[in-house]
Amino acid sequence: MVRTDLTIIGGGPVGLFAAFYAGMRGMSVRIIDSLPSLGGQLTALYPEKYVYDMPGFPKILAKDLAAEMAKQGTQFSPEIVLEEMATSLEPTEGGYLINDKFETRTIIISAGAGAFSPTKIGVPLEEDFVGRGLHYGVRESALYKGKDVTIIGGGDSAFDWCLHLLPIARSVTLVHRRDEFRAHEDSVRQVLSSPVKLKLWNQVTELHGIEKIEAVTLTHSQTKENEHHETDAVIVNIGFKSTLGPLKTWGLEIEKNQIKVDHLFETNLPNIFAVGDVCTFEGKIKLIATGVGEAATAVCVAKTRLDSTAKLFPGHSSDMDL
Ligand code: NAP
Repeated sequence: MVRTDLTIIGGGPVGLFAAFYAGMRGMSVRIIDSLPSLGGQLTALYPEKYVYDMPGFPKILAKDLAAEMAKQGTQFSPEIVLEEMATSLEPTEGGYLINDKFETRTIIISAGAGAFSPTKIGVPLEEDFVGRGLHYGVRESALYKGKDVTIIGGGDSAFDWCLHLLPIARSVTLVHRRDEFRAHEDSVRQVLSSPVKLKLWNQVTELHGIEKIEAVTLTHSQTKENEHHETDAVIVNIGFKSTLGPLKTWGLEIEKNQIKVDHLFETNLPNIFAVGDVCTFEGKIKLIATGVGEAATAVCVAKTRLDSTAKLFPGHSSDMDL
């Protein structure tokens, strides 16, 4: 692995802006994110909601903002490492080693509320069946072609995947623990009037199969009756958990689950900065608008640490030839 000038942990809007600004400053950059795509919460949690407090956009859909920020953030071709949780940190000569493989001279943590991981259903053998018929969300629709698919959840993810997979799968069954849904009304209306089979007031309590999932036990939440339900695949969409997790073991000063920084956005560890929702200082405001400013400052400070002759403020982008 190449040693980069900067590793950004968290590819949400603030991390993406840090990547852009570091690119402008001629730094080599790597972005690490636990999610399968860039954009952070804008993409994972509320893609269809409007954001009203982005400068220059009276109103913009979160997914559109994420797409534009990803375009801006990747224009200097940073190395992008997705579905990777930053777990270990080791100091090295002139920098750090993350996860025993990513060498870097400086680090900006822009991990928002922390690394996201899908909520598990919490049944026996769950770990054993991951990737063998059990999936959290959908990576590749083609996997479900001609299959009997069971989708768990009552939110937008579950409903969106029901509608998406219906024309591809042989059958789609939605299992939800009650009869009210969090998903958008229109998605609920479409699913209810489609051939999706509903198993309401039910939860998956057992997984069965030899090489891969062949069936599940459904338990009725009220009557506690069990039903054997044959299926080729189970797609779990019951939300995400976010946690600072392993970052807490790095020796960073943490206050109320956030990383303490000084006026340069530097943590108590040299050349490790924290910006955006993950950091805390007196007067902290959790907005993308303030987070991107913090990112620009942290990048410029990191630049001067790497090159003592570099100016802190490089001048305005309108005067640069990008
Ligand atoms: P979510 O909205 O948090 O819904 C999770 C669903 O899983 C809920 O129906 C919940 O049931 C159920 N659930 C939670 N824990 C469970 C458990 N242990 N066992 C069984 N069921 C359980 O998650 P999501 O659907 O992934 O959506 C996350 C966010 O992203 C939401 O804000 C959503 O609007 C957004 N999103 C939006 C879109 C879109 O706009 N098209 C697409 C995807 C996601 P209860 O309702 O009973 O609690």
